[in-house]
Amino acid sequence: MAKAKTKKKPKKKIKVDKDQAAERIERIFPILKKTYPDATVSLDFTNPLQLLIATILAAQCTDKRVNIVTRDLFKKYRKPADWANAPQQQLENDIRSTGFYKNKSKNIKNCCQKLIDNFNSKVPDTMDDLLSLAGVGRKTANVMLGNAFGIQGIVCDTHVIRLSRRLFLSENSNPDKLEFDLTEIVPKRKWGGWTMFSHLLVFHGRAVCKARKPDCHACPIEKHCPSANNPQLW
Ligand code: SF4
Repeated sequence: MAKAKTKKKPKKKIKVDKDQAAERIERIFPILKKTYPDATVSLDFTNPLQLLIATILAAQCTDKRVNIVTRDLFKKYRKPADWANAPQQQLENDIRSTGFYKNKSKNIKNCCQKLIDNFNSKVPDTMDDLLSLAGVGRKTANVMLGNAFGIQGIVCDTHVIRLSRRLFLSENSNPDKLEFDLTEIVPKRKWGGWTMFSHLLVFHGRAVCKARKPDCHACPIEKHCPSANNPQLW
């Protein structure tokens, strides 16, 4: 029998003071950096094209599953032309287990065709050019900038959205607005900058500050967190 849907409780409204949020970041950033010294992108890749494809596949799918799928996939498809010319049905079958495979395969083919047509078969390294590719939104573009090209970018994924709220860094859960808020208060280069800050929030969100039940007592930034031990704010 289908499980009855439980109604999501509306989140309590929070009020963020930008200066205090910036000070909080100054305190928590080094602690998180020490806690997760190896924080980095969890998708496996050896070149920008592989990261682009992996990031498109990672929508609504775990990085772990994507890494399993891409292990063989990246041996089969190496250049943009390999992806663009692959029969739709074949590509769908190859990426099926990542979910939403029809849309993802269409996006990958269109994206790679555009790389061939407009970018000399290379992945571009600017936000505007990346956004012109099928299947690429600001989140994917920032993953690319930060991890394939060494250009600072804040990636607003589900962990970053949840933790930014719990840590009173922003009142916005809309990823585009949140990204803008965070760029105003996170140091762009210090301690690894925007890209590292995103990795750290993702690592902390996976390990301790989990969606359903954050482990505040085990949290190294507990004393700096306005939501610590307060389920109403989770
Ligand atoms: S104290 Fe709790 S709510 Fe705050 S960051 Fe740590 S785990 Fe998350």
